[in-house]
Amino acid sequence: MRVTEGGVELEVPGEQTEGIEEAVFYNPRQELNRDLTIATLRAYREREDRATSYLDAMTASGVRGVRAAADGWDVTCCDVDEEAVDLARENLERNDCEAATVEHWNVNALMHDSTFDVIDLDPFGTPMPFADAAFANCRDLLCVTATDTAPLCGAHFNSGVRSYSAVPRNTDYHAEMGVRILISALARSGARFDVGVEPILTHATSHYVRTYLELTHKPTAADAAIDELGQLYHCEDCLYREADPGLIADPLETCPHCGGNRMLTAGPVWLGAVQDSEFIAAVRDEIPYTFDTAPAARELCDTLAAELDEPTHYDQHKLCRNWGLPANAMDDFLADLREAGYAASRAHYGGTTFKTDASVGEIRAATEGNLD
Ligand SMILES: [Zn+2]
Repeated sequence: MRVTEGGVELEVPGEQTEGIEEAVFYNPRQELNRDLTIATLRAYREREDRATSYLDAMTASGVRGVRAAADGWDVTCCDVDEEAVDLARENLERNDCEAATVEHWNVNALMHDSTFDVIDLDPFGTPMPFADAAFANCRDLLCVTATDTAPLCGAHFNSGVRSYSAVPRNTDYHAEMGVRILISALARSGARFDVGVEPILTHATSHYVRTYLELTHKPTAADAAIDELGQLYHCEDCLYREADPGLIADPLETCPHCGGNRMLTAGPVWLGAVQDSEFIAAVRDEIPYTFDTAPAARELCDTLAAELDEPTHYDQHKLCRNWGLPANAMDDFLADLREAGYAASRAHYGGTTFKTDASVGEIRAATEGNLD
C-alpha cells in the first residue's frame, strides 16, 4: 500500500495502515508527531549548526529516516528486523535518498559503537531499554516517544515502577504525570553519563508522550538536571497538589486544604520546565501548510508556547464536578483567575485543561461567582 506524508512517498504493508495503534511498520496516527519532528529538526539546525547526523533508531518502514533524509540530514536507519530493513531501504531509494545508511543491527550496539548528533527513539512501548546507549553517544538532541501511557501515568502501577524507577500516580492530570515521570527517568539515565538534559519541546496525548531533550555533556549540567527532580503530593478528595523539590520525599499525611487523608505521593518526577517557548515559536514557523497536520501542529505549538511553567495542570470540568458546580466557558474562567491576580493559561492536554499558580482553594474562590 502506497502512502504519502510530508512530501515523501512510502510503500507500507497494507494491513498495517488501518489506524491500528500497534501498527508495526507505519502508524498513521503518529503523523502529527512526525510532522513536528521535521519542523523541530529544521528549527534545531538553526539553533545548533554543527548538528548534521540523525539516527532513526527503530526505523520500521523508514518513514522518519526518509523524511529527515529528504530534508538534508545525514541519516542512519536501524532495525533488528530484516523485513523492516528491506522496506526502509526500498523507501529511501523510492525518494532518491540512497546516501542514507541502513543498519541491520541491535540499535543499542549501534549507539554504543557510533556517535550521532540527533537520535530519535520511537519504539512501541517504553523507550527506557534504549536510553543508556542513546546518552552514551548522542551529541546534541535526543528525541523520545513513549507509547506506554498506562504505566507512565500510574494506571499500570507496577509496570510504571519497573520501567521508570519512579512512583507514578493516577491523578486527574495523568498525561502530564506521564510526561514528568518519563523526563525524570531520562534525566537520571543521562546523569549516569555526565549528560544534562533540557526539554525544549514536549507534548502528550492519550496515546503517547513525545519530548525533545537538548543535551549538555558536563557533570555540572547533569547535576543541574537532577536538581529539577522532586515529588508531587496530591489529595484525591479535593485535588489539591503540591510540588516538593529534591530526591528525598517528605510526604503530607493530611491535605492542607481539606484535611483529608487520601494523599498520594508521586516521584521522583521532573518538576522543571518542559518547553522552551522561543524554540517552539521557531518550530511553528517551520511547519509548512504542505504538511497534512499543519493546522493542528501549529495550534499545538501556540498552546505549548503559551503554557505556564507549572508542574501540574487542572481540568476545569473535573474541578467543577468535584465542587458540584456547573462549568462555564474556558475564556471566562481564565479571565476570572487573571482578574484575581493569578497567572493562568490553557494547557495542551485537553480543551478544558489549564495551568495556574493559584491553589485549588484559590481557584474556586476566584471563579465560583461566575459558575452558573
Ligand atoms: Zn484535599
